[in-house]
Amino acid sequence: MIGTARSATHAGATRTCPHCRATILESAIVCPGCKHHLRFDRNVTPGGLPATKTAWQVEGTLDAERMDAATEFSILIVVRNERNEEVARQVVNVGALQGVERRTFTLSIETSEPRPGSPPKRR
Ligand SMILES: [Zn+2]
Repeated sequence: MIGTARSATHAGATRTCPHCRATILESAIVCPGCKHHLRFDRNVTPGGLPATKTAWQVEGTLDAERMDAATEFSILIVVRNERNEEVARQVVNVGALQGVERRTFTLSIETSEPRPGSPPKRR
């Protein structure tokens, strides 16, 4: 790790959002889950948003399959590392749809540069 951005302290370190209790990055200025402001930082974009970018995003819809009966659903997110080992698995929503009911889901991955002096945290 010579001369790389990975020489910084605490990159990837986590903490608990005091508002929604989600596990978030220690460097987060705004909780990505509940969008509450956690602290003020001068390293933000002019609009006041944290210096993050959306690296990847997908959106889809799930329609009820039948008018006369409900269809149950589970929305599951699984994260794997470079060795295809599961590092996270979470059910984010469950329910049932019938008739004209619909759910739209959006999955996005936000990235940011670690602060200078923050090495990566291995998980
Ligand atoms: Zn939160």
